[in-house]
Amino acid sequence: QSLYNLGAKCETMERYGPIIRTYGQENFEKIQNAKLLIVGAGGIGCEILKNLALTGFKYIELIDLDTIDVSNLNRQFLFRPEHVGQPKAIVAGNAAKRFNPDLTVVSYHENIKNPKFNLAYFEKFNLVLNALDNIDARRHVNRLCLAANRPLIDSGTTGYLGQVVPILKGKTACYECYPKPTQKVYPICTIRSTPDKPVHCIVWAKECFKLLFNQPSESMLFEDESTGETSTYMQLISYPTDVTVDAVLQYGEDLLTALYRTEIDKRLAMDVYKTAKVVPVALELSDIHQAVEACRASLTNTSTTSSSTAGWDHRIFSLQENIIQFLTCLYEVGVKDRQLIGQLSFDKDDLWAMKFVTAASNLRSH
Ligand SMILES: [Zn+2]
Repeated sequence: QSLYNLGAKCETMERYGPIIRTYGQENFEKIQNAKLLIVGAGGIGCEILKNLALTGFKYIELIDLDTIDVSNLNRQFLFRPEHVGQPKAIVAGNAAKRFNPDLTVVSYHENIKNPKFNLAYFEKFNLVLNALDNIDARRHVNRLCLAANRPLIDSGTTGYLGQVVPILKGKTACYECYPKPTQKVYPICTIRSTPDKPVHCIVWAKECFKLLFNQPSESMLFEDESTGETSTYMQLISYPTDVTVDAVLQYGEDLLTALYRTEIDKRLAMDVYKTAKVVPVALELSDIHQAVEACRASLTNTSTTSSSTAGWDHRIFSLQENIIQFLTCLYEVGVKDRQLIGQLSFDKDDLWAMKFVTAASNLRSH
């Protein structure tokens, strides 16, 4: 028995010796007995989880609502190509356990705002670590930690800068004590009618995305009928009920004509670009129609639909390619998520959404 104990002790010393010498026996015991909560298993979460596992923490609960995307693999190093599509919290938890066999990770593939993660839930932890990518969730965890009187270490990024802030009720400022820099906003009329920089066209395209796939009334491009004559595209914001190639292409052709021809012509006639450095060019009906037919051929020919799109974001698209891209995305989202149209949010990790916004903004820059 005593030899067995000695063996176990040696293994502990081998694993934790440097940690114990660094932090001292007393702190090491605190580490071993602590219960931690990590919110977020993305870029920051992977790093934190690995470090805590190697430091000797033995009990961690991990919450993340996301699944793994190919675009995460360059930095979220606990994930491998075979994990794409699986929940981040579960894959990251399993990976961390391999760093340290003493570690227990309880993973939740859920939203931190789920009411089950309530005050009583937060009270069972000694420390909470935020590894989130959005202000809303960071605020939510901040408030719960204040209410539960639990220390929070909040980390995040803004642009190219990273921040780490310890927050403890009554001792430090909290996450909401300082106003957050708001996202850059552009004047609504610049976006709607006179975008003259590439960034304006991208904002316009994202508003177009909102108009077509999310709540139309939330979009800057939305027009209320009560305010008088509306733009032609306002008649075209409902996606076809039946997702067939013909129905979607007809819809797409009408939409392209309204957005990139009728409305541009109307504004040119109104002379709104009088003082603009760059004046848009309305699309030719024949260009739109030609692209529609090319798109019909590729969508109905099943042998070409599996063609790889690798490298698409490293090329400059021709006008035809932009129109085809716009139409293909319109069709793809219907096939994939018809029921969700009206509640889809733009996500840079959604390939089709990136392609749609790319094509839509390129066309608005024409
Ligand atoms: Zn505060």
